Amino acid sequence: MRYLPIHVDLKGVTLLIIGGGAAAEAKLRTLIKTDANLIVVAPKVSTEIQKWIEEGVIVWHQRAPITEDYIAVKLVYAATDNQSINTDIAKYCDEHDILVNVADQKDDCSFITPALVDRSPVTISIGTEGTSPGLARALKSDLETRLPSSLGTLAEFVATARKRVAKRIPDLAGRQRFWAQVFSGNDLTAQLKLSKEALSLKIDSLIGQENESGGGPVKADVSGGMVSLVGSGPGNPDLLTFQARQKLHSADVIVYDRLVSQGVLDLARREAEYIYVGKIPNGKSTPQSEINDILVEKAKQGLSVVRLKSGDPLIFGRADEEIEALEAASISFEICPGITSAAAAAASIGASLTARGHNKSVSFLTGHDAKGFAEHDWTSLAQPHARAAVYMGVGAARFIQGRLLLHGATRNLPIAIVENASRPNEKIVSSKLDALPDDLTRAGINGPAILLIGYSLKQALSLPTHKIGAVS
Ligand code: SAH
Repeated sequence: MRYLPIHVDLKGVTLLIIGGGAAAEAKLRTLIKTDANLIVVAPKVSTEIQKWIEEGVIVWHQRAPITEDYIAVKLVYAATDNQSINTDIAKYCDEHDILVNVADQKDDCSFITPALVDRSPVTISIGTEGTSPGLARALKSDLETRLPSSLGTLAEFVATARKRVAKRIPDLAGRQRFWAQVFSGNDLTAQLKLSKEALSLKIDSLIGQENESGGGPVKADVSGGMVSLVGSGPGNPDLLTFQARQKLHSADVIVYDRLVSQGVLDLARREAEYIYVGKIPNGKSTPQSEINDILVEKAKQGLSVVRLKSGDPLIFGRADEEIEALEAASISFEICPGITSAAAAAASIGASLTARGHNKSVSFLTGHDAKGFAEHDWTSLAQPHARAAVYMGVGAARFIQGRLLLHGATRNLPIAIVENASRPNEKIVSSKLDALPDDLTRAGINGPAILLIGYSLKQALSLPTHKIGAVS
């Protein structure tokens, strides 16, 4: 190990950054989060640095550096656009025993800066001693997805809890065993996501056990299970939220629907138990009551359950029924929103769901409900400015067409159909109200699709032709 990672206390310390361009800006982006006094010396600075100066985060000397700049400075960043100037700065620092970092010139550096995962006060630095910045970035991005944004708050909570624990468990070895126990379990990331309340309960319970066992080993896992209702988005894993990814990484059990894509499931924890509860339209399905029972039962076993639903969990996903069942069984739950398929479908055709001066609202409708084809306020929906996104609407297309025509909608009302929005097999069909059912049949739409009523494909949109099932 040639380089030793250390955490330097920057409170009240002065750092000198020489340069005002992109390299300096990149260094400053991290440095402005510290407690250091930052002095930038450069004839001119980027707009972003200018903003920090105006915010009072940085002091700027608008000129070339002079020797007085180095007085009482702890670290120097040589970040001008000129390599030989940077090397001269590094030499000067070396001669005066000041630690110096030179942007992109490792050989001139007396210290190098790691990739950082910042969950202050928890920080993780990743260094490769300059061998592979790409690898460092990959590691950083992996850790970023696994570690919850609340990790810093959790650490602060642990700091306060330590006093309480010290009072109850006076001996050091006992305390060390205790803290190892608090964060034990087969999945650390899941432990790190505990809410303060859950962690507090766990700590209290473990203190009780530690005192009872008189220092012997204590039993693990006293944390209660919980259910996360997670939106998996329309199918493309890139459209998953960060939060959803984290939940998938740490789940013990994943209860998922038919429309959750394989690409999304591939991101989930391999060791988790996977339970398929898909409902095939007009086919075999898992009764809702059975799904509710699975959620309750698994959570009662202390497991972290992810209930993965396509799109957003709160839109046509029967989330209300699951929430009711969880509440009745006093199981904690949380909801992680996702991108609903209507939003993805609109993005695919390049249309704004609302348009100033045209439509002030857009309705999200279902084609089916518990009784069959769903009835709606057709009079409003048939108005010229009405816009709607219909879920589960393919089978009900003729019914919807009939109802809209009956209530006065124009025959050439544009309708865009997006099947498998955001997925590699996405298909877009441009249709009109009077041709809707026939166009759907001709285009062979039989996957999940959204009917965007009142919307046409954006003219300027450069859609690959294979995407458009060219009808009408
Ligand atoms: N909660 C989901 C909707 C579930 S209802 C959401 O917010 O998107 C199931 C219906 O969603 C399907 O019949 C279809 O109309 C729509 N749907 C789901 N995924 C889709 C996709 N990738 N492309 C188009 N429509 C989709």
